[in-house]
Amino acid sequence: MKHLIHARKEAVKSHHERAKVGAVIVKGGAIIGKGFNSPKYIGKGEYGYTSTHAELSALLHTNKPKGGVCYVFRMLKNSLPAMAKPCMKCQTLLRHAGIKKAYYTTSIPPFFGVIKL
Ligand SMILES: [Zn+2]
Repeated sequence: MKHLIHARKEAVKSHHERAKVGAVIVKGGAIIGKGFNSPKYIGKGEYGYTSTHAELSALLHTNKPKGGVCYVFRMLKNSLPAMAKPCMKCQTLLRHAGIKKAYYTTSIPPFFGVIKL
């Protein structure tokens, strides 16, 4: 789960008030994309985001993500992890990009979960 720590480093950069979320995309053991959520809209219109989710930001900053794995960390104000399961839009986006699964933080032990995409 070491890559969740890298996703946490991205979450720290978020300017979002309530939910700081970071994501990294890993392929062959290397981080090939990273990003964090933003209250600003930077996505493409067809996705209909009103804010930029960390997964979208990470995908926009990557190249050839096919076969990769996504790690998502949601951090509360007290720095503890919280539920970061990708939303349906991000799940679709990640699947279309060829991402096979996503690990995400949760608020209860073992503090992470995984979803096959
Ligand atoms: Zn999302």
